Amino acid sequence: MGRRGAAVGAVIVAAWLLAAAAQGSAADNVQAASLPVVAEADQQRGQGASGPTPPAPTLGWRQESVAPEPAPEPEPEPEPDVRPAVVDCAVLACVALTFDDGPAEYTGALLDVLAAKGVPATFFVLGIQVEQFPDIVIRMAAEGHAIGNHSWSHPRLTNLSPEQAGWQLDATNTVIAQLTGVTPTLVRPPYGTSNATVLAVIGDRGAVSVLWSVDTEDWRNRDVEVTTARALTDVEPGSIILMHDIRPTTVEAIGGIVDQLQAAGFTLVTVDALLGPVTPGGSYRHRP
Ligand SMILES: [Zn+2]
Repeated sequence: MGRRGAAVGAVIVAAWLLAAAAQGSAADNVQAASLPVVAEADQQRGQGASGPTPPAPTLGWRQESVAPEPAPEPEPEPEPDVRPAVVDCAVLACVALTFDDGPAEYTGALLDVLAAKGVPATFFVLGIQVEQFPDIVIRMAAEGHAIGNHSWSHPRLTNLSPEQAGWQLDATNTVIAQLTGVTPTLVRPPYGTSNATVLAVIGDRGAVSVLWSVDTEDWRNRDVEVTTARALTDVEPGSIILMHDIRPTTVEAIGGIVDQLQAAGFTLVTVDALLGPVTPGGSYRHRP
């Protein structure tokens, strides 16, 4: 063998090295080709926007490279709680302002007025609107307003089966409770239409039906003067006043209405405070 054998051995080793090198680069190529696919899948997951974004890794160098934080904004004033300490509507001339069909575009401005005046109201909200304006519902509760159930999508509950009517109330109660931690016990049936079946559905949920004794017809007149005049006409101790927070004219009118009711000696309260003890399944349009 001698020199010839060594030469053959060298060729074999060289061939093996070449083969190994070729295999290695092929494997790298496969890996490289698969990378964009993985990145794409990640992008798609990110675009789903269904889950929370994972927190960015905290690395020392990253913290050092972050620009200095801007000066902190001054702390916002805490939202006023409009609940009066003690209200006895058996003694005081109480009146309840109620707003239906929101929360909506103008509800925040309405809450600003009520906060400035320091008076509570009762909002009968729709489940579909709560889904669109959850922050407003959280604010209502935080500022001491009462939140009632006005159904999920505003059907006439009398046209529904008890199961369907129950769903309208339960679905709305669920979203309100998720946001505020409180399940409403006040129900305003859409259009004020109810019957024994609807009242039984409401009563099964430990709630009462709340109608009204003063109708501003603000949704129809859409006029500050007319809405104001109607709110103040026939108002008496124990009145429940119906309005809608979906009308800008109502928001415009509310400050004057509050001022004039207070000037006439009325104390503005939530419907719960106005009614006092109630019977589940009962229907109330006025303090009993
Ligand atoms: Zn309504």
